[in-house]
Amino acid sequence: MKRFCELKIPIKESALNSLDWRVKVLPKEIKFCARCAISNQRPGIVFDENNVCAPCNFAEKKKKLIDWASRKKEFEKMLEGYRRNDGNFDVIVPSSGGKDSAVVAHRLKHEYGMHPLCVTWAPMIYTDIGWQNLQNFIASGFPTVLMFPDRILHRKLSKLAFVKIGAHFYAFGRGQMAAPFHVAIEKGIKLVMYAQNGESEYGGITKYDNQCGVSWADWERFYHAGLTLDNTLKVGVQEGFLTEEEMKDPCFKLYTIPSAKILSENDIAMHWFFYYHKDVPQENYYYVSQHTGFQANPERSEGTYTKFASLDDRTDGFHYYLGFIKYGIGRATSDAAHEVRDGFISREEAVALIRKYDGEFPKKYYKEFLEYVDLTDEEFRDVVDAYRQEHIWKKENGEWKLRHQAS
Ligand SMILES: [Zn+2]
Repeated sequence: MKRFCELKIPIKESALNSLDWRVKVLPKEIKFCARCAISNQRPGIVFDENNVCAPCNFAEKKKKLIDWASRKKEFEKMLEGYRRNDGNFDVIVPSSGGKDSAVVAHRLKHEYGMHPLCVTWAPMIYTDIGWQNLQNFIASGFPTVLMFPDRILHRKLSKLAFVKIGAHFYAFGRGQMAAPFHVAIEKGIKLVMYAQNGESEYGGITKYDNQCGVSWADWERFYHAGLTLDNTLKVGVQEGFLTEEEMKDPCFKLYTIPSAKILSENDIAMHWFFYYHKDVPQENYYYVSQHTGFQANPERSEGTYTKFASLDDRTDGFHYYLGFIKYGIGRATSDAAHEVRDGFISREEAVALIRKYDGEFPKKYYKEFLEYVDLTDEEFRDVVDAYRQEHIWKKENGEWKLRHQAS
């Protein structure tokens, strides 16, 4: 295999010296939420005195306290400040062609009479279904700016992030978050509308549970664990993942949200659509299959039992798999816990699904993934094992096993 960079230290050593500080501060005693079965190992999650996690409490509170009719009014009022009827776009919808962003764009256009411009930051490697869903979405009447990053630099950043953060999606996630703001500034569009605050819904930081958006100052800390692109790239250069010259490439600007100063000078605001609307993954799925030609996967996604979420990228499975390695929490746990909170399944059913599917190895695209991040099978295993923590994993007869599982 022809390597695309000469590392200065062995992969294993590099991964053991990870930049992701969150894995180092996890509670050593593992607990499982009494309601949804997620564990306390998810970074930022808080459990109350009854052993119930913050997202469960958040979901309950939403059911009881939120008056969705008045939130809708609030939303309409907010939109009035941005609506344009002069032939220009008035809102950017960061959109993958996936179900949530399709719901947002469709409802903004047809229910609220807005003029959305969608911005798609391309996945690492499109799946057939992901590409088809994007085409169907565009064909149902949505102008879309599709951005592909420099594939060489993107792969290098993915490799760096996989080894040093245990999260190759860092590269994709940064671009997906940042690129829409660059388009907003360029086109003079003042409003950027994301779907939901994943932290509240899936169980991370609760500070923004009851707010319609996040402060610019908190953004980096929130979504990228405080791992600024600059620092990550600097370490990358030191260890030989990329060169000093590559680090200065203008492409990397697209991976960083413009500064708070630039955003406020341009009067740009971001809002979460599902702060103002009820967010039920199942219902979103039905909505977009009817309105934007969205199709579920013909088969379930590896590592979980669902067929309709996160389908666009062949490397998705490795994002969830590494989460499972680092925190003992896989894709099935996230999906099942969300469905418990929405009242679709019981805790017992969730536990059964978690035990059956969580941590399933994403073998379907393994070869492609290795090629994409330029790693050998052995190096991949070295990185994975470097992220296993003593209080989460044990080795039994040569096989890795979780020390604790939801029951
Ligand atoms: Zn819970």
